[in-house]
Amino acid sequence: MSRSQSAQENPYLAPPLPQFKGVAELSAKEAATQAEQLQEAVRYHDRRYYVDGDPVIADSEYDRLFTRLQELESEFDVDDEGSPTQRVGASPIDEFDTATHSTELLSIEQSREKSAVRGFGDRVVRETDGSVSFVCEPKLDGISLALYYEDGLLQQVVTRGDGEEGEVVTPNAKTVPSIPLRLPVESPERLVVRGEMVMPRKAFQQYNKEQIEVGDDPFANPRNAVAGTIRQKDPSIVAERPLQFLVFDVLESSQPLATRWEANQFLEDLGFVSPPRLEQAETIEDAVAYRNETLEVRDEMDVAIDGVVLKVNDHDHQDTLGRTSSHPRYCFAYKFPPRTEETALRDVVLQVGRTGRVTPVALLDPVDVGGVTVSRASLHNPAQIAELGAGIGDRVWVERAGDVIPQVAEVVEDRADGHFGFPETCPVCSSNIERDGPMAVCTGGLSCPSQVRRSIEHYVSRKGLDIDGVGEQTVDHFLEAELIEDVADLYALAKDDITSLEGYGDQSAANLVEAIDGSREPALHDFLTALGIPEVGETAARDLAREFGSVDAFREAESSDLTTVDDVGEVTARRIREYLQMEVNRPW
Ligand SMILES: [Zn+2]
Repeated sequence: MSRSQSAQENPYLAPPLPQFKGVAELSAKEAATQAEQLQEAVRYHDRRYYVDGDPVIADSEYDRLFTRLQELESEFDVDDEGSPTQRVGASPIDEFDTATHSTELLSIEQSREKSAVRGFGDRVVRETDGSVSFVCEPKLDGISLALYYEDGLLQQVVTRGDGEEGEVVTPNAKTVPSIPLRLPVESPERLVVRGEMVMPRKAFQQYNKEQIEVGDDPFANPRNAVAGTIRQKDPSIVAERPLQFLVFDVLESSQPLATRWEANQFLEDLGFVSPPRLEQAETIEDAVAYRNETLEVRDEMDVAIDGVVLKVNDHDHQDTLGRTSSHPRYCFAYKFPPRTEETALRDVVLQVGRTGRVTPVALLDPVDVGGVTVSRASLHNPAQIAELGAGIGDRVWVERAGDVIPQVAEVVEDRADGHFGFPETCPVCSSNIERDGPMAVCTGGLSCPSQVRRSIEHYVSRKGLDIDGVGEQTVDHFLEAELIEDVADLYALAKDDITSLEGYGDQSAANLVEAIDGSREPALHDFLTALGIPEVGETAARDLAREFGSVDAFREAESSDLTTVDDVGEVTARRIREYLQMEVNRPW
């Protein structure tokens, strides 16, 4: 049976989906056919779900197909190269290899000035036969990658790096649903495409919200979130992050393509996802209008952008225009204006996070920055305050890039007497504040009420043990009523304790007790993550759990035992020892 025939008869594309007979009842030939149909179906449903946002089957049905496919691939000798099951399950790696790009990934000439864009338009008309048109795209603010395909199979994914050489991030990239692992049969023998890995806005906001709720540093912007994720050493963590790959260039293809617009259609047919708002423009003035319209709607778009890119459409024209040593001469980035405003810095407040990190926040005279009123902005840490020279009363520039927490970018008028003097003691618990590099840290540990609160919030949160119904507010209520002082106290809570609080009925109290009770015996790595030991994130927790196997063994571990674990260096080992030595830190 050819692939196209199986596509027409594939029973797993639309409901109602048939039931499966037992794996043992299948012949090898039947298994191979079914596996091929399931691979195709899973790819199709992935696309409906992740790309079109229009799934045609229920999640449970999808899981049934996926599990069956995994079974067939493990029970029979079927071809699983490029199968959707290969997205997950790669082992963590020690370090990234580097690879040389077969076609250089050039940077793009850019400007914020309309005159520069018109200059580009005049030049490309002058240097060609004059019949130039443009393809307009948003300028994506993510991480640039090259994808290498041979015979329709994804072989390698390499970051842009310096354009000539980048890092090989294939196992991480494979977990991203919008990167096809296998292209349709009509794809060219060799294909190299370039695009941008991004984190869509809503997903980024949700992710950051969770980070902040548990007292972790949020990512400064979607771009940093992508950069931090794509260099994760454990692909299973990458798989949990909401990344998307948007394609915008064909670097090499064994099948010739006449125009950029045609190339785009070709890539979509192969299963790639294009950036939003792709348009054609007949003249440079049309392209300028496109830029202005895009600037108007940038906040409504689901990807962070910082301008538009204009490309000469015809590939013959592109060849005529050629390149400089660093830029192609047929495209131009017309950047958006920065989003900064001037205002007065009125006060500085200090927030103490779960790990004791003391973050200074500037209180500002409210000011409209790109359509959003800003009255608070991050000052990051004491070193940043000193570097800015920011003091109370100064006139400052605040910057809001995308959905980022606004930050103080610059002091424009120094009205204060010197910069803000960082206190020596914690504003919450009066313990000494120590410096850790550029940062300030409260040394109170879990004798600091702010750290306690953040630790318990972390423990119950989705990043911790995900205890149903116990959120930040509930933790605050328990603490205020002095029902709990630490994590261990959660497990001593009785229903009557909770109903004594205003707003908690019999049923909700019973549910809370049951939910807390259900978290008594977590998997060790979940428990270690939930403790929120400084420097111990998901990856380190997994490695530690694998190494020590039990809480007791972990608690007895010496620094030298700890540093034998992958991902645990001297600093992390010291943090763990410090944590374990504080009696108050032992909820078990
Ligand atoms: Zn403190």
